[in-house]
Amino acid sequence: MKPTHEVLIIGAGPAGLGCALALQAAGVEDVLVLDQKSIGASFESWPEQMRLLTPSFHSNAFGFADLNAISPETSPADFLNTQHPSGKDYALYLRAIVKHYEVAVETGVRVTGLRRVRDHFELETAQGPKAAKFVIWAIGEFSRPDDSGIDGADFCLHNGRVRDWEQIAAGGQQFTLIGGYESGIDAAINLMQLGKDVHLLSRGHPWDSDDPDPSRALSPHTRDRLKAALLEAPGQIRFYKNAEVQSVRPVKGGYELAVKDGQPFHSPSVPILCTGFRSALEPIRDLWEWKNGSAIFSEEADESTLTPGLFYSGPSLQHRGMLFCFIYKYRARFGVIAREIAGRLGIDIGDGLDLWKQRGFLLDDLKCCTDCQCAVEATEDQQLKQAEVIEYAVAA
Ligand SMILES: Cc1cc2nc3c(=O)[nH]c(=O)nc-3n(C[C@H](O)[C@H](O)[C@H](O)COP(=O)(O)OP(=O)(O)OC[C@H]3O[C@@H](n4cnc5c(N)ncnc54)[C@H](O)[C@@H]3O)c2cc1C
Repeated sequence: MKPTHEVLIIGAGPAGLGCALALQAAGVEDVLVLDQKSIGASFESWPEQMRLLTPSFHSNAFGFADLNAISPETSPADFLNTQHPSGKDYALYLRAIVKHYEVAVETGVRVTGLRRVRDHFELETAQGPKAAKFVIWAIGEFSRPDDSGIDGADFCLHNGRVRDWEQIAAGGQQFTLIGGYESGIDAAINLMQLGKDVHLLSRGHPWDSDDPDPSRALSPHTRDRLKAALLEAPGQIRFYKNAEVQSVRPVKGGYELAVKDGQPFHSPSVPILCTGFRSALEPIRDLWEWKNGSAIFSEEADESTLTPGLFYSGPSLQHRGMLFCFIYKYRARFGVIAREIAGRLGIDIGDGLDLWKQRGFLLDDLKCCTDCQCAVEATEDQQLKQAEVIEYAVAA
């Protein structure tokens, strides 16, 4: 089959669309974005109450793009008039981008297979085959909840499947959450604000990590919300640290959770898994090299080291141990991918990507991927110390 397009991008979320815009700026014309559902579908399915953790603020005129922008000349804060957009707000921003920049997007096209044939790629979709010289894989992680590692996870509800915490809250008075990072704390605050008693079990105690990388510690926004929640209703959220849940089974009156080195924990309601999401590369894992459970990306342009011409954009990206899981992190590579593809197509980019470079959307020096500490040492967060934290009992 002959290539039908120069570039096919799979996924019309911020990663796929951001790459499409960068390719446009680099002069690559024949680009098509495919999405199994709709533009910004993952954000559309966020729980009603959820907001972006990363704040939006318009400062583009000073050369600093809004943290949640996917192009150097737009700002979700300016467009949406809010600092922490909801999922639906953010999807609105993505749709506005597509319309304004006339990005070619086909929705309702699920890609079910991808293979390299000689010098191009062939894609299987329910709507028939497609082919392209280059593919950018940008399917995100949200549609891939990670419930591995817990026997009986099927008896639980993953937070990625929650559409509205009010509906969940109607199911009882006491809730058990498994996982204490961003999603777990967000779930705990939402349920507590709906008057529920929350028991949060976590392997370690990630809520009080003071790692300077926001990919490894609670965001300031979540910390603020948690502190307010602890003041509002002391004791209503109980934190159990070092409580690694290994299995879940239904018992009379609820569910029994087996906890490593601890007594079983009883939950009267369906336990809620806040255990994260799987890598976006898993559906095409054979096309990538893997090391210690993570896909390897070329430092030059986030390309597969096994399959030339196949690029990745999105939150599963990692370089030198640094996670690129926020928009402001992985967008730094949009320009790098676009420059590489344009170069291979023999296109003269001219100054097309200059603004992308100036505003941090074309980062080709990965020196940022080193351990970074704030010059002034953080003081202990006294307010968070008010949380009632229970060391999970070691089994007798
Ligand atoms: C709970 C949660 C909160 C987060 N909060 C923030 C935050 O505050 N700030 C931040 O910067 N980041 C945040 N993130 C990270 C977030 O994942 C990314 O910023 C963003 O959603 C990823 O964008 P994406 O384009 O890679 O994926 P998505 O937005 O998920 O888009 C992927 C698209 O691919 C489509 N797709 C999937 N499979 C296929 C297929 N087989 N064929 C065709 N199309 C397909 C989907 O329909 C979807 O539209 C959060 C993530 C989670 C899970």
